[in-house]
Amino acid sequence: MNILVINCGSSSLKYQLIDSITEKVLAKGLCERIGSEGSCITHTPTGGAKRTEEIPMPDHSAAIKAVIDHLLDPEVGVITSLSQIGAVGHRIVHGGERFNKAVLINDDVVRAIGDVSDLAPLHNPANLTGIHACEKLMPGVPMVAVFDTAFHQTMPPEAYLYAIPLEYYKDYKVRRYGFHGTSHDYVSQRAAEILGKKREDLRIIVCHLGNGASVTAVKYGKSIDTTMGLTPLEGLIMGTRSGDIDPAIITFLMDKLHCSAQEILNILNKKSGMLGLSGGISNDFRDLTKAAAEGNKDAETALEAYAIRVGKYIGAYTAEMDGVDVIVFTAGVGENDGPMRKRISNYTEFLGTSIDEEKNKIRGEEVILSKPTDKVVTMVVPTNEELAIARQTLAIVEEEDRKKI
Ligand code: AMP
Repeated sequence: MNILVINCGSSSLKYQLIDSITEKVLAKGLCERIGSEGSCITHTPTGGAKRTEEIPMPDHSAAIKAVIDHLLDPEVGVITSLSQIGAVGHRIVHGGERFNKAVLINDDVVRAIGDVSDLAPLHNPANLTGIHACEKLMPGVPMVAVFDTAFHQTMPPEAYLYAIPLEYYKDYKVRRYGFHGTSHDYVSQRAAEILGKKREDLRIIVCHLGNGASVTAVKYGKSIDTTMGLTPLEGLIMGTRSGDIDPAIITFLMDKLHCSAQEILNILNKKSGMLGLSGGISNDFRDLTKAAAEGNKDAETALEAYAIRVGKYIGAYTAEMDGVDVIVFTAGVGENDGPMRKRISNYTEFLGTSIDEEKNKIRGEEVILSKPTDKVVTMVVPTNEELAIARQTLAIVEEEDRKKI
């Protein structure tokens, strides 16, 4: 069965068509500037040439239509009929406390995703528009919602509650939810497989270090703590997000800059992190590494601050799990940036970790970086959220089919 994986942002839509038997990507692409002038689609059939086209896409329905047209296109298409799409898997950012696993989408699920939109006001409404657009253009094709928050629903209250009056949790569900759950789940499972062990027997710390970044403690198969919180702003220093700060900075800066809380939040989300800390050099680690090598002190400080924060959480989660067996690096920085992995490992050597210099030069591949004699395995496992979504979509659709028999 071919599964269309859809990831809707507020003005963008990423997609992949995956053959669920071979698990090969047949085609992938990106629609950008949905709802504005100059909207365009970039479509890449596997093994074929990329095609970028400017197409008016006033809304997500138009974007889904453009995706379908490209998948069916005689030149760059990879299917000949819509019936060759067996199911659609939607990445949904926030499932609140209601969803602890992927579910078949029905009216009730759509309502529930809408109900938690106040927790992810930029993402969930966009995810819903993607669902509605697919319903309209592919009626009858089963759709599955895969939530970024679901894997973390196993966290105990002592890890997910904030130390603020309990009524705010009870009344408004203010708590830690965590994100990147699909990635943390996939990567921790894959790490155990590579090591020939069961995830249920391991204490794994997954460092998902991309433009957005989070660390998760996966104890014997379950997420027991993670660095992102009510929103993805908390935790590590990220590309443009501050991560942990003293909350009093918000009101302090509101006074100094004469601006609203929303404006400060915008600064914390979009102008902070590595971009802010480096004095505006870049949010991209390649630029920062180059600048630091050329002697830029702000870039060097930003890189070291980043490593300290990751190291600090590895230490904290080791304490929380009463030990650690495996540390895994994944996502753009985690998979590709050997020097950053080395910087981080400088803060974890006391745990018995080490990194082989030669193996650490490998990029974007599954590799064990530690020595066989090390107390803790350090490894790289490239994440593949789309494949994880396709697998979960297939599992739910097959389960539903079995129920019908
Ligand atoms: P992601 O959000 O997982 O796609 O990660 C994107 C980020 O990964 C970029 O902003 C870069 O900072 C980082 N990145 C990607 N490739 C490399 C590389 N070869 N070396 C260092 N950092 C990289």
